[in-house]
Amino acid sequence: MSPALGVMLKSGPPKPIAVAIKITGDCIDCNACPPECPNTAIYETGVEWSLSDGTSLKGSVALMDGTVVEATALQSPLSTTVCYIVPDKCTECQGFHEEPQCVSVCPVDACVPDEMYRETVEQLMSKKEKLHI
Ligand code: SF4
Ligand code: SF4
Repeated sequence: MSPALGVMLKSGPPKPIAVAIKITGDCIDCNACPPECPNTAIYETGVEWSLSDGTSLKGSVALMDGTVVEATALQSPLSTTVCYIVPDKCTECQGFHEEPQCVSVCPVDACVPDEMYRETVEQLMSKKEKLHI
């Protein structure tokens, strides 16, 4: 048995990996995508964001980078030049839609995978459950 197969049999088949979505500089700020996001993860250019916008999150919440913030606290915009996606709120639409809605509606293909945030489908579903208790 090859070592690789041995590892696979011990740990099971590899889990599917999904990634969060980001918006590139190709965005023309048409604002078609923010209303389509089931997690309110997309914000218009320069607008402050919060974890509690469009979610059930309350109290202190740990972000993916370990920072703890109040769910209702307004956070600085992640972009002042184009619309942006908050990675902590993006679940790649898992549990809501078959495909990322922002990708589907964008007329200029500005919504692309964000390789900085690789999560399993299981992790994304768990995130979705936490966002919408
Ligand atoms: S992939 Fe889905 S959850 Fe993520 S930002 Fe786009 S619409 Fe929102
Ligand atoms: S749909 Fe595309 S072009 Fe329009 S705001 Fe969203 S990312 Fe930008």
